[in-house]
Order: sequence, then structure tokens, then C-alpha cells
Amino acid sequence: MRAAFAQIGLTDPATDITDQVNERAVAWARERAAELVGMRRLEDGTLVPNPNAEWTIAENTREMLRGTVVDAIEQGTSTADLAAQLTESYAFGDARAEAIARTELARADVAGNMEAYRGSGMVSGKQWVLGSEHGEPDECDDAAALGVVALDDDFGGIGDPPAHPNCVCDVLPVLAEEAE
Ligand SMILES: [Zn+2]
Repeated sequence: MRAAFAQIGLTDPATDITDQVNERAVAWARERAAELVGMRRLEDGTLVPNPNAEWTIAENTREMLRGTVVDAIEQGTSTADLAAQLTESYAFGDARAEAIARTELARADVAGNMEAYRGSGMVSGKQWVLGSEHGEPDECDDAAALGVVALDDDFGGIGDPPAHPNCVCDVLPVLAEEAE
């Protein structure tokens, strides 16, 4: 989040703004963390349970997982440590634990950045940037093709990146003056 402020030229944001942004990012995670786990996205952007039984998880597992992810965000746990914790507590395989840890922390990071951009009052828009390791064309390409959109835009219904497990896309802020 500090990086997000620095990115838009705010090297020393007021403490109350930082606190507020932090609080909102954690509130976001409490509600939204783990919502992609065991799900897949249809072409129209809606999330549905993954039909492959290997990936499904019970709703109560998702609830617990959400708590674990929120704790990790609050404590600044690294991806590797969170993945190890997930393998141990949820019996996920290593690859899946790693994917969940990476994706969930990336989602929280982007959500925090968005709060920082909003809190700054200097950012009017954003732009989807495809990750360099982006493989098969998917919903991310459609989002990137939209160009600069409003800060609260949902990129055609998929929300901010990462859009799917292991999505390596990012979102860049567009300063108010650049958009004019
Ligand atoms: Zn992507």
C-alpha cells in the first residue's frame, strides 16, 4: 500500500489516510478473501463452483480459509509461509496451497492499492496490465482491451486482477490529470 502511494507520487501520506486505507483493505478481505477457491469463472464473468470434484471445497472450509487469509494479511505473512500453513491445516497439495496463497495475497494487495488510490484523491482511473507470463487468451485479455476505465469500474464484471487462480496481471493507476 505504501508502494501504491509512492507510485502516484505521495511519499508521505497522512497517517489517518493510511490507517483508513488499511482498515478498508482488511474489511475487504474479511468479505471477499477465498471467494475464488474451488470456483471457476464462466465466459460472462460469473463465478460458479468448479465442476471438477478435485477442486471443490465445502462452504465452511471457505469460511475458515477466509479467516486464515485475513490473519495472514494482518500479520504480513509471506506467500511461502501462508502456503505452508494451508498445506498443514487444510491438507491442500503443495501446488494448490501455493496457488491459493499467491492468488489471495495478490488480491488483497490489489484491493489495498485500490483503497490507497481512492484515498489519495489523485487517481481518476485504472488500466489492466496483462502479466508477462500470460498464457492462453482469457477474460484478462478482454479486461486489458478496455484500456483506461474509471477507478470503480469492474472490468466487465470480473473485478480487479487477479481474475483467476495464478493470474499474474496487475492494474495501474491513471492520475486525474493524465486522463484529461
Ligand atoms: Zn490475468
